[in-house]
Amino acid sequence: MDYDLIVVGGGSGGLACAQRAAEHGARALLIESHRLGGTCVNVGCVPKKVMWHAAQLAHAAHDARDYGFDLTLQGHDWPQLKQKRDAYVARLNGIYAANLDKRGVTLLRERARLSAAQGVIAGGREYRAPHIVIATGGHPLVPDIPGAAHGITSDGFFELPARPAGVAIVGTGYIAVELAGIFSALGSHTTLVARGDGLLRHFEPFLGDHLRETMRDEGVEIVTKAVPQALERDAANQLRLALADGRRLGPFDCVVWAIGRSAAGGDLGLEQLRVMRDADGFLRTDALQETNVSGLYAIGDVTGRAQLTPVAIAAGRRLSDRLFGGQSERRLDYEYIPSVIFSHPPIGVLGLTEAEARRQYGPAVKAYSSRFTPLYHAITTHKPKMLMKLVTAGAEERVVGIHVIGPGADELLQGFAVAVRMGATKRDFDDTVAIHPTAAEELVTMR
Ligand SMILES: Cc1cc2nc3c(=O)[nH]c(=O)nc-3n(C[C@H](O)[C@H](O)[C@H](O)COP(=O)(O)OP(=O)(O)OC[C@H]3O[C@@H](n4cnc5c(N)ncnc54)[C@H](O)[C@@H]3O)c2cc1C
Repeated sequence: MDYDLIVVGGGSGGLACAQRAAEHGARALLIESHRLGGTCVNVGCVPKKVMWHAAQLAHAAHDARDYGFDLTLQGHDWPQLKQKRDAYVARLNGIYAANLDKRGVTLLRERARLSAAQGVIAGGREYRAPHIVIATGGHPLVPDIPGAAHGITSDGFFELPARPAGVAIVGTGYIAVELAGIFSALGSHTTLVARGDGLLRHFEPFLGDHLRETMRDEGVEIVTKAVPQALERDAANQLRLALADGRRLGPFDCVVWAIGRSAAGGDLGLEQLRVMRDADGFLRTDALQETNVSGLYAIGDVTGRAQLTPVAIAAGRRLSDRLFGGQSERRLDYEYIPSVIFSHPPIGVLGLTEAEARRQYGPAVKAYSSRFTPLYHAITTHKPKMLMKLVTAGAEERVVGIHVIGPGADELLQGFAVAVRMGATKRDFDDTVAIHPTAAEELVTMR
């Protein structure tokens, strides 16, 4: 065998898996055809969060007047921000390459294809290892309608050289609302095109409802029950979106498809090895990340489970700990994974929604809610509310869900996630002394 481990894909999961294997002394080969760092670093979390900070500053600049500042905003320099953001990402790409080198992981910059359960072909030659990990991530979906190619996806968002004056985002998931919030705060006339009535339909319903109202108050146009049928470019080079019910939306300078993501791996040769996938094309794995083919594993977005960077990293590291670190039981527990939606305001979620808890635990479920104006907004003209819900189950009232929307929701959840994983009850929350004055204290003072 040429290596102990071959990892296909140098994104969040693949990098973590290969490096941890090398730390345990394994000979690891990582094959990446594009930029190191994958989606998160190049076209996901990292550049997105930079844009989110810019949007936060735009909101803060408005609020600053209410705090006594005499500010005159002269617009926003998108090209300058993009240049600095891209330079930061390029620096990260370099750091990832250096880290692989430091840990002794061999990096091959090629497109890989499986040749056998223990073989991979890349750059015209075959490499063999007893363990092969697929960490090829996913890519954004584009609808199969005429003119769809006139639109861009979240990948294209990061290539925009200037801020479009008028933009439509089609979708209601977390990427759609995040991009809408950024465009709107930075000055684009923003339209969110929703298939149904609501946003964020996989989340606790009050989060999407409240975000919809907040976004509307801030000038985002939300078009509901809208099923795109065609995208056309008119004589003035503007985009018009035709809907199935005959409505026409636009003109727009830019249309972004944010309708979901599918698994990458179409060219991996999975069919010939009969690797099992689900109906949406995601690779099926067992609790130990192994596919139905022995010695072939999958981690991260390509599995379709909790498509988040820390999840891909944790799955990759634990797999290497198990295969090469002598930790035979090590695996990722997919329960109680906290996550944040970087909308404006941000949303933090952990565990079960109230409806999910009722399905799982029956009537022994209790929910506590709170709605208040955060102190920060006590003296601002614009007064978005903060909403929280705590879901508990059983007689002991174990906390099984936390759902928060409002300023600081992104930063406050991580610590609570530790407590919930450890089995904290409502009583434990109540017994914890509050930090005052914060929004987070509300979670330990709910009645
Ligand atoms: C707009 C956006 C915002 C996001 N924001 C967040 C966030 O705030 N927080 C968060 O936790 N997650 C966020 N995510 C999700 C996060 O980016 C992914 O969950 C994470 O990157 C998944 O890591 P991965 O290793 O599974 O795949 P990826 O990071 O996608 O890496 C896969 C790699 O495999 C390579 N590859 C594919 N096929 C081959 C092949 N045949 N040969 C060689 N190489 C190949 C690709 O080039 C790519 O580099 C966001 C995603 C998007 C799109």
